Amino acid sequence: MRSQQAGLRFDDSDDEIRAALEDVSIPTLLVSCVHMSGDASILDGPVRPGGAMLNEIQGYLSEEDKLAARELAFDVIRDYRDRGCPEPEPVDQSLVKKMMEFVVGAAVADEYVPMMLEELGLERLDTRADVSGNTGRVVPDDFSVVIIGCGMSGLLAAIRLGQAGIPYVVVEKNAGPGGTWYANTYPGARVDVGNHFYCYSFEPSDHWTEYFARQPEILEYFTAVMRKYGVDEHVRWSTEVTGATWDDETSTWVIDVGGPDGRETLRARALISAVGQLSTPHVPEVPGSFAGPAFHTARWDHGVDLTGKDVVMIGAGATGFQVAPAIADTVGSLTVLQRTAQWMFPNPGYHEPVGSGMQWALRHLPFYARWFRFLIFFPSCDAGLAAAKVDPAWEPQQTSVSEINDFARMMFTEWIESQLPDDPDLLAKVLPDYPATAKRTLQDNGSWLRTLTRDNVDLVRAGVRHLEADGVVDSEGTKHHADVLVWSTGFAYNEPLAPMTIRGRGGVDLREHWGTRPRAYLGVTVPSFPNFFCLYGPGTNLASGGSIIFASECEVRYTMACIEALLNGGHRTIEPKLSVYDDYYDRSQAEMRTMVWASPHIEHNYYQNDDGEVHGLNPWRLVDYWDWTRTVDLDDYQLQ
Ligand code: NAP
Repeated sequence: MRSQQAGLRFDDSDDEIRAALEDVSIPTLLVSCVHMSGDASILDGPVRPGGAMLNEIQGYLSEEDKLAARELAFDVIRDYRDRGCPEPEPVDQSLVKKMMEFVVGAAVADEYVPMMLEELGLERLDTRADVSGNTGRVVPDDFSVVIIGCGMSGLLAAIRLGQAGIPYVVVEKNAGPGGTWYANTYPGARVDVGNHFYCYSFEPSDHWTEYFARQPEILEYFTAVMRKYGVDEHVRWSTEVTGATWDDETSTWVIDVGGPDGRETLRARALISAVGQLSTPHVPEVPGSFAGPAFHTARWDHGVDLTGKDVVMIGAGATGFQVAPAIADTVGSLTVLQRTAQWMFPNPGYHEPVGSGMQWALRHLPFYARWFRFLIFFPSCDAGLAAAKVDPAWEPQQTSVSEINDFARMMFTEWIESQLPDDPDLLAKVLPDYPATAKRTLQDNGSWLRTLTRDNVDLVRAGVRHLEADGVVDSEGTKHHADVLVWSTGFAYNEPLAPMTIRGRGGVDLREHWGTRPRAYLGVTVPSFPNFFCLYGPGTNLASGGSIIFASECEVRYTMACIEALLNGGHRTIEPKLSVYDDYYDRSQAEMRTMVWASPHIEHNYYQNDDGEVHGLNPWRLVDYWDWTRTVDLDDYQLQ
């Protein structure tokens, strides 16, 4: 059986191959050539990628080098085709490391190699699926799992439970899968992590039509994956979990749900929350009332025709940044109320289609798609964390928190300034006054600032004072006429799992137990809440790189390892020791206090709670989080 990663056989003509090579990532192409030819000397040749940087897929190679690489690759590919596209010989680990370093044009520290080997999946695509320990365990008749939510992480948990032969039910409040990708249908919605990495590691990624796909395509992807693994047969759609209570006597969770058939109770031996961190829209309470149509971006009212209308959009975060360019052509006028300016990172390929040559390479060239995933992932892995780390000796902390953070500020500033050479007024409004990377840095191909310079678009650097029937009065007292009001004001972030009531041992209410400090051991488990697992839980959000799908794959593997420990040991319950949970929380918070996200110099930052503490984000390196969640250390747990 031919390995999926080895690529599909092909018999394209010489001309077709030459045409395809015009459009590919050259560093990725050359390592694929090593697989095709078995000739590792390619890595020591004259063409060498010159460094790793997010969104740089050509390794800073000159046109001359690219031309030389295409010539070399053409000969290798033609020969490979003429040999009938055989399955490549395995490459040994030391050569893989050399290939890693070649692709990104930089050293890859030894500690990253095992994680990246797993991501690459050259020998076996999906090593994360197997955590059972192969002990021949049986699943007791009374054992089943309820998963709350069929978004990206709930779907992943369902796939893993299905693969392990463990019965499960998914309860989903929406009428379809996708979670955030189901809810956010606003114009311009697209992913801002490269799609060839923002997808499950074990599913092919050769189909994306854009490098940063739009919402419908991502929703289609999750729907297709759900069907492929038969998860849809296990989902209760349009059904909401309102609460769950632990029953000590039977060691089960009693789960209250409300759906099309009314209220009901489900029972399960384990409960997985996969509700996401960004699912409850935040609409600020503002005095006054507006008479026209008004909606939050996550509840976009597609029945409202914006053609020729005066639209006021409140908020200009990651969402507003995508909405404005998408509607500016249609509306009569667009006024954006932006309380705080955003840092943005240059990404010329943000709206680019994946060309036919690239798609061909992703499908056909051995391991090309896997190496392309690596090429996107590695630079976004832990490098960003360094720029987010506070150097206490650095001054002034109001503008940057370290030398490298200051460098990021300078780079982002230059990018913004380069787009507005003749517009000092607008420049003053869009240049942030807080350290770079303190909030989630936005991907930018110039469309945001181009939109703001249009005659029918006005950026107002102000908040909202009150609403009137026909408009909005901003915090400076200026009224802006509106036919339609769009709240692009983000999500209730610091109340994870709201509005559900989850009661553990002794009736303890999880959200009361957490108060303003939500936490979980490794972001997943909580003492007194046996057999309960959070996905994308407290302390797992990423602000400096990586992808939430990668994090979820770690969390789901860990959750499965806990469940397998239960089954293998014939135990009834598993929960973390209080001392382990407290220690992890204390260490995480100590680490978090050294990060720019907790900086007191940012006036508004949804990552922070009212006390300025950050509980949603992961302060650790991805390589550490990956390592800690690879297996479960049963010494950390109480098993009964
Ligand atoms: P957000 O980043 O929280 O932005 C909300 C905006 O509303 C900010 O401009 C905020 O101003 C403003 N705002 C909030 N309350 C306000 C008030 N009372 N008065 C005036 N302005 C107010 O929310 P978001 O844009 O929806 O993004 C949330 C997260 O979703 C992102 O960080 C990201 O993780 C994710 N996201 C991802 C993508 C993607 O991958 N493509 C797209 C969209 C969102 P301040 O900045 O002053 O608080």
